[in-house]
Amino acid sequence: MSKAEIGLIGLGTMGAALALNIADNGFDIAVWNRTTARTQDFHKNAGDLADHITATETLQDLVDAIAKPRAIILMVPAGQPVDDQIDALRPLLDDDDMIIDAGNANFHDTNRRARDAGDKPFLGIGVSGGEEGARFGPSIMGGGKRAHWDRVAHILNAIAAKHEGEACATWMGEEGAGHFVKAVHNGIEYADMQMIAEVYGIMRDGLAMDDASIADTFSGWDNGPLKSYLIEISGKVAGATDPKTGKPMLEVIVDAAGQKGTGRWTVIEAQHLAAPIPAIEAAVVARNLSSQRDARAAGEDLFGTAPHRLPHDILSTDTLERALIAGKILCYTQGFDMIAKASNAFGWALPLPDIAKVWRAGCIIRSAMLDDMATALAEDADRTLMFAPKFANMLKANHDALRRVVAQAALHGLAVPALSSGLAYFDAMRTARGTANMIQGQRDFFGAHGFDRVDGGTGQHGPWGN
Ligand code: NDP
Repeated sequence: MSKAEIGLIGLGTMGAALALNIADNGFDIAVWNRTTARTQDFHKNAGDLADHITATETLQDLVDAIAKPRAIILMVPAGQPVDDQIDALRPLLDDDDMIIDAGNANFHDTNRRARDAGDKPFLGIGVSGGEEGARFGPSIMGGGKRAHWDRVAHILNAIAAKHEGEACATWMGEEGAGHFVKAVHNGIEYADMQMIAEVYGIMRDGLAMDDASIADTFSGWDNGPLKSYLIEISGKVAGATDPKTGKPMLEVIVDAAGQKGTGRWTVIEAQHLAAPIPAIEAAVVARNLSSQRDARAAGEDLFGTAPHRLPHDILSTDTLERALIAGKILCYTQGFDMIAKASNAFGWALPLPDIAKVWRAGCIIRSAMLDDMATALAEDADRTLMFAPKFANMLKANHDALRRVVAQAALHGLAVPALSSGLAYFDAMRTARGTANMIQGQRDFFGAHGFDRVDGGTGQHGPWGN
């Protein structure tokens, strides 16, 4: 085989799938993995695609197998392994060879690595879509120098998911811009998943629906405004049967959810940016709380189970669907507003409409609504998404349902943290005269922090007598 057009390091779940995708699109690829047995297994199981793949046993062999100027994708765990791999690889490369970190790096690390690379090409790309996406078309969010992105764009465009023929691969900006957008994508994913899980909880505990009816309900919603990958798979998860016990799968899955960090990073960064993303924060907190199983069991023993069952006919599944529509708009609004804030803070000029477009296929949060979001953001990227006429109208039509769901959940002890924080965000966002005047009065009282007066004047103080 002639020299490969690209290389890849790390043949785990994502790397192996991405390498097959690259080969499947007709590119010759050289691969290397820390554990050689995995490289050999990968090559042996690559079927017809093996002809496009050069399996190498040393890093030097990998480098020698790739045409110059080289491009090598890293698909190893985020953090120290990426730094170690770069340190091991750089001395073997020419100055114009490119390293592409395609893992879920913290964008601060990508910023640092891009600066450390200096003029040597380095890209940080966020890849979404899980194993299936990596194999058959992920959504790709790129960061680094535009010229370096352009050098490999033909490969990334070819392997990316397509939405009506348009590749879901976009350069977002310099340095860690791609990994930042990927992190916010994951934050939105957390909130979207959490809201779906909360509605599932209301159907299970509040409406006493069985798993088959819940599955049917989700599947029905997948034909309406909520049409999305997450709704689709929620129906499939609810409808699946455990081969071992014959019970519904959801009955045998432990109710404790893990996280690998991107949701947490999004929340931490939102605090730095003073970006209000309460639904995403609530979703991250809910995962943390879910892990405290012993404490929750002790709490149930101590306080008793709340009377979860809702009165007959008080909430229909149509109301739940409408609540979820409102919740989804609010959580995407928060995510896009955070991206807009970061864009200003970091001087990135992040392309908001293109971000909505790149999420339309391949990634976990792909949904029918993103098409309209891309259009709304293209009309006016500076306007918050929930104020765009299309989404404002949807909120006007559905926020009452969100309110009824949150209210009934509260009355019956059903925890709905993401839905309720979405509702609180909505109410705060439509209240011209809020309550922070009291906060300012308190701050001035105990700390002489000063306040602005509604009738003019800044840095004023109250008659507190202290
Ligand atoms: P896996 O655990 O399946 O594979 C990890 C790979 O990295 C293995 O090939 C492993 O080699 C290699 N590796 C581990 N540690 C080192 C190290 N210190 N030095 C060199 N190689 C190392 O991980 P995934 O494929 O799931 O994830 C890879 C990246 O992709 C991560 O950043 C992850 O967050 C990201 N990602 C994952 C998604 C998913 O759905 N799984 C989705 C999107 C992004 P060995 O065989 O020797 O152990």
